[in-house]
Amino acid sequence: MLNNDGKPKKIIIVGGGTAGWMAANLLACKWKGTEICLVESKEIGIIGVGEGSTPHLKLFFDAIGVAESQWMPRCNATYKNGINFDKWSTIAGFESYFHPFPAQTDDIFTVPLFYKNIQARMQGYKVNAHPDNYFLESYLSRKNLGPLPDECFPFGISYGYHFDSALLGEFLAKNAQSQGVKRIYGTVSDVLVKNDGNLSAVKLKNGSQLEADFFIDSSGFNSLLMQKTLKVNYKSFKDNLVNNAAVVMPSELSQVLPVATKATALSNGWAWQIPLRNRFGNGYVYSSDYIDSNQAETELRQHLGLLESDIDARHLKMKVGRVEKHWHKNCLAVGLSQGFIEPLEATAITLSFNTIEQFIQYFEEGKGTNKFEDAFNKDINLRFDGIRDYIVCHYKANQRNDSDYWRDNAANKNISENLSQILYLWRHSQDFAGDMHKYKLVGSYQPKSWVCLLAGYGVFPKKEMDQTFDYSNHQQEIDGVNDFIRRCGLNFKNHSELLLL
Ligand SMILES: Cc1cc2nc3c(=O)[nH]c(=O)nc-3n(C[C@H](O)[C@H](O)[C@H](O)COP(=O)(O)OP(=O)(O)OC[C@H]3O[C@@H](n4cnc5c(N)ncnc54)[C@H](O)[C@@H]3O)c2cc1C
Repeated sequence: MLNNDGKPKKIIIVGGGTAGWMAANLLACKWKGTEICLVESKEIGIIGVGEGSTPHLKLFFDAIGVAESQWMPRCNATYKNGINFDKWSTIAGFESYFHPFPAQTDDIFTVPLFYKNIQARMQGYKVNAHPDNYFLESYLSRKNLGPLPDECFPFGISYGYHFDSALLGEFLAKNAQSQGVKRIYGTVSDVLVKNDGNLSAVKLKNGSQLEADFFIDSSGFNSLLMQKTLKVNYKSFKDNLVNNAAVVMPSELSQVLPVATKATALSNGWAWQIPLRNRFGNGYVYSSDYIDSNQAETELRQHLGLLESDIDARHLKMKVGRVEKHWHKNCLAVGLSQGFIEPLEATAITLSFNTIEQFIQYFEEGKGTNKFEDAFNKDINLRFDGIRDYIVCHYKANQRNDSDYWRDNAANKNISENLSQILYLWRHSQDFAGDMHKYKLVGSYQPKSWVCLLAGYGVFPKKEMDQTFDYSNHQQEIDGVNDFIRRCGLNFKNHSELLLL
């Protein structure tokens, strides 16, 4: 049933992880007349990882009207300029590169020279084409400067965060409750379905029954409503992304608080290092087809210098893929219940936000009907697949040769048509960014992100020499860009100072 304003009268959200509470906050904020109840299971708990974000988390907090000063200190949160990819390539000079979040200065002042020098490099000129030289946020990261500029700085800059996921969940829970969301502890044991296929109620283990007009499935990898009850198909990504497990443990902070996530390639996967205010969060994401959990834990301890330490490690399984429909009947899946792509680019929370935000828009446009269900599902699937392709590209482009894991990933032929076309353009196009737009290949990632990745690993296919290329001002141009970035940097504060630590 709908209210007079075309919104559901009552919504039940199953699951109190980050996804469930994000949905509760956004819905409570946008649909004031709707009664919202969230049911979560203490005995099952939350996954309790997921501590890095993209700039979308800022958009989420802006949308629910919560300022950084309200949530960041309470979640031990820090700022994030981007991700440092370390040891994914063995090509001299390209052992590490930084993938920055976008800043307005990129496209106006620095990226054109980056593109030009990549073309020159591919034609055999010895020019500097490493991404770290061309982006403001790479510079900020090297200098440990946070991403908030002085007021007089005229260019926009986007950034993400690192945070304690359990504290973030609790913060969001309290905030949603203050907006009228009802929190219920209980384990759902059964889901009731009407004759027309819509859901009518969830039954809890204690015998109580909760009825609603619309349901949000945020039950994590359980996917209790969308996959288990409504039997929506699941599309696995395991042919393109082989990692299926992770081992996680904290470590002590370094003296200097980094302002970026670090993703270091190990023997059979990669390890993240996420700086919070009180600790580093670390994890090794790997494929159990290549290394077992004990070996992975030992390798992570070695990597962190914690071989002798008794800090507990936590082992997790990951299911990588997505549902075919994220909205079906009177149910929306949000979070791990709708799918998961391995955390290399920290995109899961972004996808949850996109899903809820877009659902609200499509549901309102359809005046409370399922008119736009197909369009919505197509849209969300494109987002998932676009992110998948970008992450697959990291593995395809890796330049390591020290284990079957890295060799098999580089040789993997199971890539999407879109990714195959992007890689073709990289090898053959004289205007990679322009052609990505021309052939409608720009999805979840902008051309400059693709260029960062491919140039960052030192992948420069040889092209025919263009005799008209003007190489004479090369050093002056690079010096000019470096000087511009350095002067921009004067407008930014040290990360710890910014956090008042
Ligand atoms: C190794 C790893 C690293 C990650 N890193 C990142 C990252 O850096 N950035 C990022 O954005 N994301 C990351 N993620 C993803 C991120 O953890 C999740 O997207 C996020 O935590 C949201 O999870 P969730 O709320 O969907 O599920 P969960 O946290 O698992 O919550 C599920 C909820 O459903 C409840 N529930 C389940 N079954 C029932 C039932 N029968 N009855 C009642 N309640 C039930 C549970 O109790 C819980 O409250 C990572 C994931 C993994 C596995």
